[in-house]
Amino acid sequence: MLKRLLKSVICLCMLASPLCANSAPKEANEPVPTVILGGGIGALTSAVYLQRAGVQSLVIEGRDPGGAIIQSPQVQNWPGEVEIDGYSLMEKVRNQAEVNGAKILPQEVIAVDFSQRPYKVTTRDLDEKKATHVLYANSCIIATGAAPKLLGISGENKYWTRGVYSCATCDGALFKDKTVAVIGGGDSAVLEAEYLSKIAKKVLIFVRSGTFRASEIMRKEHLLKNPNVEVHYHTTIQEIKGDENKATQLVVKTDGKIKNLPVDGIFLAIGSTPNSRLFQGQLEISQDGYIVLKDTQRTSLAGVYAIGDVVDPYFKQAISAAGDGAKAALQAERELATFTEKVSAKPAPLAAIPIAHSESAIDLTNAEQLSSELSSATMPILVEFYSPYCGPCRKIAPAVDQAIQKYAGRVKFIKVNVSDFSTLASQYKVYGVPTAIMYDSKGQEIDRRVGPDQINSLLNSLDKFAQ
Ligand code: NDP
Repeated sequence: MLKRLLKSVICLCMLASPLCANSAPKEANEPVPTVILGGGIGALTSAVYLQRAGVQSLVIEGRDPGGAIIQSPQVQNWPGEVEIDGYSLMEKVRNQAEVNGAKILPQEVIAVDFSQRPYKVTTRDLDEKKATHVLYANSCIIATGAAPKLLGISGENKYWTRGVYSCATCDGALFKDKTVAVIGGGDSAVLEAEYLSKIAKKVLIFVRSGTFRASEIMRKEHLLKNPNVEVHYHTTIQEIKGDENKATQLVVKTDGKIKNLPVDGIFLAIGSTPNSRLFQGQLEISQDGYIVLKDTQRTSLAGVYAIGDVVDPYFKQAISAAGDGAKAALQAERELATFTEKVSAKPAPLAAIPIAHSESAIDLTNAEQLSSELSSATMPILVEFYSPYCGPCRKIAPAVDQAIQKYAGRVKFIKVNVSDFSTLASQYKVYGVPTAIMYDSKGQEIDRRVGPDQINSLLNSLDKFAQ
């Protein structure tokens, strides 16, 4: 896991390099095309679609990377998988997003400012130092999911994580051969009870009405055939009692009668509340906390989309979150094209990177020029993809200019401004700037470096390539 997270820590200009910051807060002014808030299956599906459409995406995966599905030990309704555990399913989608070039940050979002575009997103590291970072994004996909609901009764907070839980796959193993209670009659309750029934001696399910509302009927019926599963209908939970160290009893009311039942563990599965608090006052939000959509995944604000459990009071399926993610990404990609056109029509706020003038240096003026230069190469060629207003590109520019002078006639330098040639960037699989690609004198790629430090070391080793 650590290795996986470290892999995500790559500082690229297009990613606004928030992780390069080692003191907080730091602002990275170059906006990312799209930031995705959340790290569940919907979020990562958006990332896959955006990357495939040539739009760089940055996923801020938050405190619960993987989202709700990773708590599911047996997913049996994901197309193409007869059965898979939720964690493995997520790993596959996460890997797919990364293979396609998405960048995933192990940070949480603590504030957004949607008052002007590019939108401002403040994030925080998950370690104890909690350093904060600021990034800007031209568009935003909100995939913050939902948090488990609580009963709001006496003893619940006191014994939370000491006998009271909301995730059987996380804490269920503590209750081997013991008696556990599951509260709720939805699909989550069925899943929790099913998992616990394989570990515990007895599973008591408390349903406040006379019926389950779970949609997975086959699964529910299979569960209720278990001899160690007992359902208490028309039963509400009044109180959780304990011995000060841990919860030991449930006080329940059935048909007006109060009973004290000894239990070792209590698992709540009574639904969830959308995680939309960060967006209060900035987006339209319904009374029950869901982000209101104006149209397919579009929120009340241009360039801001919302997907999955934070918008969906009805389905809350991994597959519907993934579908939302695809729809949001496709719309974001189209809208960004128009937005970027409008923005690029404005006067440039900063001076562009100066290009050294030399016969050996070419600043690309048309897309075809690159392939024709490579196919007619007579000397090694170094192609640098840059963006005029990116800090790391500016940082490396003097070193590139020096190399242009030093290797004149021995190495040809071609500079590609990705603001003008974004399709070339995707064609040459460039996912962040600055990127330098080294070609031999036959026009074959022989090396590729990303970011100023890596490019600097390539420039320092140019002697071995130069003619
Ligand atoms: P649901 O809202 O579907 O069910 C919540 C359950 O908790 C209901 O039985 C509800 O009772 C009960 N409940 C709510 N508040 C209380 C309370 N204060 N005291 C006692 N009982 C209470 O939530 P789920 O998390 O189960 O599911 C959410 C969504 O996610 C659903 O759409 C579900 O289909 C989906 N899902 C699908 C899965 C799948 O594998 N297909 C897996 C998990 C979730 P009442 O019915 O009386 O309101």
